Amino acid sequence: MYRTHTCGELSISNKGEKVTLAGWVQRSRDLGGMTFVDLRDRYGITQLVFNMETDASLCGIARKLGREFVIRVTGSVAERSNKNPKMATGDIEIIAGNIDILNTSDVPPFTIEENTDGGDELRMKYRYLDLRRQNVRSNILLRHKMAQEVRRYLDGEGFIEVETPVLIKSTPEGARDFVVPSRIHNGEFYALPQSPQTFKQLLMVAGFDKYFQIVKCFRDEDLRADRQPEFTQIDCEMSFIHQEDILNTFEGLARHLFREVKGLEFGKKFPRISYDEAISRYGSDKPDIRFGMGITEITEAVRGRNFAPFEQVAYVGAISAPGCAGWSRKQLDEITDFVKRPQIGAKGLVWAKVEADGSVRSSADKFYSPDDLANLALMTGSDAGDLLLMMAGPREKTLSALGELRLEMGRRLGLLDASVYAPLWVVDFPLLEWDDETKRFYAKHHPFTSPKTEDLQYMETDPFRVRANAYDLVINGTEIGGGSIRIHDPETQSLMFKTLGFTAEEAQKQFGFLLNAFRFGAPPHGGIAFGFDRWTAIMGGSDTIRDYIAFPKNNQARDVMIDTPSTIKQEQLDELGIEIKKEERGS
Ligand code: ASP
Repeated sequence: MYRTHTCGELSISNKGEKVTLAGWVQRSRDLGGMTFVDLRDRYGITQLVFNMETDASLCGIARKLGREFVIRVTGSVAERSNKNPKMATGDIEIIAGNIDILNTSDVPPFTIEENTDGGDELRMKYRYLDLRRQNVRSNILLRHKMAQEVRRYLDGEGFIEVETPVLIKSTPEGARDFVVPSRIHNGEFYALPQSPQTFKQLLMVAGFDKYFQIVKCFRDEDLRADRQPEFTQIDCEMSFIHQEDILNTFEGLARHLFREVKGLEFGKKFPRISYDEAISRYGSDKPDIRFGMGITEITEAVRGRNFAPFEQVAYVGAISAPGCAGWSRKQLDEITDFVKRPQIGAKGLVWAKVEADGSVRSSADKFYSPDDLANLALMTGSDAGDLLLMMAGPREKTLSALGELRLEMGRRLGLLDASVYAPLWVVDFPLLEWDDETKRFYAKHHPFTSPKTEDLQYMETDPFRVRANAYDLVINGTEIGGGSIRIHDPETQSLMFKTLGFTAEEAQKQFGFLLNAFRFGAPPHGGIAFGFDRWTAIMGGSDTIRDYIAFPKNNQARDVMIDTPSTIKQEQLDELGIEIKKEERGS
């Protein structure tokens, strides 16, 4: 070994010991006759001292050390006169007696310290240097801990980790596939898995009973903030279970992770709410329940008073912001502008303030009597000092806008505390969703998700009414996992494909291998998959998944460090039988 100790472990109890450390020079400072060097490795930072008086030539070498040089130092552990309580090793320093320069370094393009001067792009280009920074490294260590704990829990529950292939054919999640051309079978392509969905179901047919995998998935989706073309799932499947068993098993996983990784216990069971309730109370199927401020429908209560914005609309809803009755005109204008932004697209906002004496003032005073307004305050559970914010329009759109407004008010009122975790299950999702552009139904989850038995009767007459045995785990407004009980009988599967507009031949061509397998005794089964990057980010108190991936792509889906995607050689294209249509390529 190059060292006797790491840079993070020496303390006053080692005083007087002769030690050897190895690591990177974080920085060095000359202070008169003394030179101080901060030596860094994965475990921490230790201060080295070189003394001009006692060893001038050694001190001379130390003075010439550049940032990020790799050195080995032998010396004795001494108590610092000037202790640094912020550092784990802050009580001691090493009086250096010897130094080996193991490697030199170019001047790094940014300072490798907690508060770096490097911009995003630069740090991504030199990600291996960024990863030397303590705060970035600790994110990757958190990820490691999460992965180990996932394995520990699932192994303890009898799950078997099985790898599934990466060169496959389309999976049913419905995003765009990344494809890989085959050289041996010219003109044919593999698809990279959007998830191991079909394989995990085949493992259930194979009798594996409980499967999991921490696995890379690939989806060629449009660029959006904080989305990665390749991401990691904790993918799971179980046989001979009901929805209740899945929810309990994976609530167990969530509890285990919170306990082991964050030291947090949840006394009560995670709340469960239906999709319909989530939409009508929070305007979202992934509600953030760290705070209340739920939505109340007031459509009927505000009708018939000739207030044009509230007449002839399908829906009027309100939220009540606690303690905001004192908001100024400027604050109200700002929040109105917020909901009018194109991303939210509301026409406007009507407000009402509940004054200290209980009377209510509103921007629509002219149309509503004091009794009408008092009634609204009562319906929405508003107290003196609260501010009611109301919006109107088509039901779904308005609920979603109210949901955004609720979150924004939560943000402004400081209710989104990153140290608070509020998990919940959202259940009973609709089975199908309608796409106006292509004029057809899509599976809301995927085509193997089972309809609720009691809703099967509506499959052909009123498909919107059919609910699925599908569920999501949501934490702090983020969907971190979702799954379903699968269809395991051929008739229901055929009906589902028919509803989705597949002909029998198309279904056979795309998923024939699974349908065939189902003819050989498929057990009742179901599963779930969690977004591992996102869950880790949430556990780290962040919403940026990139920070928790060792080598992420940037928000243009490029890896700027290895410079990819990139062109390939003409010979490679020829071997693959591929011709690039240059003039049609986008930027
Ligand atoms: N394969 C699904 C997904 O990636 C999850 C599941 O149904 O288990 O969303």
